[in-house]
Amino acid sequence: MKIHLKDQVLLVTHVQQLDEQGGSILHRQILEELPKATVRVEIDLSQVTSVDGTGLSKLVSIQKAIRKQANLNPSLHLIKPSAPVMQMLRLTRMERNFTIVNGSNPQQKRKKKALLPLFVFVDACGWEILKEDPFADQQAPFRRKLKSVFGYSSACIPSILSGRWPVDTRNWCYFVRDPGNSPFRSLKSLGWLPRAVTSRRIFRRWLSKFIRGPLKFRGYFDLYNIPFRHIGLFDFTEKKNPLEPKGLNKGPNIFDHLTDAGIPYHVSVPTRPEFENLQALDADIASEAIDFAFLYWPALDGLMHETGNQSPRISDKLREYEKWLDQLMATARNHYEDVELYVFSDHGMANCDHLLDLKARINALSLRMPQDYTVVYDSTMARFWFANDTARAAITACLDGVNNGRILGDAELESLGTLFPDRYFGEMIFLADEGVLIVPSDMGERPLRGMHGYHPNAPQSYASMLTNVENLDATVTDIPHIYKLMVDGASRAHVANKSESAVESRSVEAVVTR
Ligand SMILES: [Zn+2]
Repeated sequence: MKIHLKDQVLLVTHVQQLDEQGGSILHRQILEELPKATVRVEIDLSQVTSVDGTGLSKLVSIQKAIRKQANLNPSLHLIKPSAPVMQMLRLTRMERNFTIVNGSNPQQKRKKKALLPLFVFVDACGWEILKEDPFADQQAPFRRKLKSVFGYSSACIPSILSGRWPVDTRNWCYFVRDPGNSPFRSLKSLGWLPRAVTSRRIFRRWLSKFIRGPLKFRGYFDLYNIPFRHIGLFDFTEKKNPLEPKGLNKGPNIFDHLTDAGIPYHVSVPTRPEFENLQALDADIASEAIDFAFLYWPALDGLMHETGNQSPRISDKLREYEKWLDQLMATARNHYEDVELYVFSDHGMANCDHLLDLKARINALSLRMPQDYTVVYDSTMARFWFANDTARAAITACLDGVNNGRILGDAELESLGTLFPDRYFGEMIFLADEGVLIVPSDMGERPLRGMHGYHPNAPQSYASMLTNVENLDATVTDIPHIYKLMVDGASRAHVANKSESAVESRSVEAVVTR
């Protein structure tokens, strides 16, 4: 038996015996040689002359053991199994446990599917970060700067998934003033609890989890730092999961489109860990049952909120993503002739070098909430609703006096796709300059090192698109344009993969009639 390593694939050749003894030797030697970064183990079984059931069952234990020992969830492929091995595999019904490549029986020769469009969403992997990092340049060498959508991921993700801006999806910021529809009225009674308890993140996370079920929220939900005293004033606008059909507040998303068109797809479950989502996609690709895949990796965003955009940990995380991309591409190329890879983000991340205590300034005005006004302090924005003109004038004057932020006028909001005629998300929108964090806010009590949600023209706001498609449509310039790439890729794949299987079944028929 010989073992050697090539491109993260461990190749085992010259296997002659696959009985209890031979299987045990194979098992031991593979695990001794297996690097952590292996993406696949291939065992050439073309020379096997003696085989039995115990030997075959060793292959099952090898499959389990390599997944345990290597950290990229490697798959086990059996290459050209000899006639006795094929016979035993069929006899023991163990054929379906393995990926069998180029079997000795010509009818076993696997035909690949034609095309897989693979969309990998790396949250917050902005253009400025990629300027300093060659992230994924092997897998996706063609890169482009994309303009983001004004707002947080709650705005950007629905826009990517629908090709529309927030004014059309009605997915923008999380909390809005809507006392008539507030699902939180019962929480007002928690207002008597001391701030020391209710402002604790751990308490808020627990409570958010606890009430998410009864409120039937399907998406991500967090009460953040909204004061319980006022919580009955607010509604939460992302009750649905944008990564599901009917997941947007208004109009269809890509998953509605795929469902209507009968195109089978894979999409990540955002509540699952990244690696689990990777494994689930890997398995779906290997099953060849899908014509489109959407993978969501949110951890880089969390890391940069914590560390800012210059931490050495960013490079470590990007290297990990590259390994995972290698694994996915290896599996995908093994099952699809052509794999179009699109790695993209929704926005970048700015370092927060300045803190703005806007709340203290507004509280210093002799106005009352909610009698005179209502406000939601996001991390980079403050959104106001007014009950009278005195409050409007006083708050406008106060905001005009803030030198590291400004009120956005209607024309500008309209150009950003965020002017809502019914002022659902606020009658007046104040936006901090890039690098200025509003703190404390309704999003958090304490400062964060990194933040996004600044003006889309601010340098760190730009998103990115990395692909292995050489002539990417030149009209793809803003993140909502990713939608048309998804629609286009999915429909081409659906047609190509269908006609491939038609060709295959025709040729099988021909063999039968002859
Ligand atoms: Zn974020």
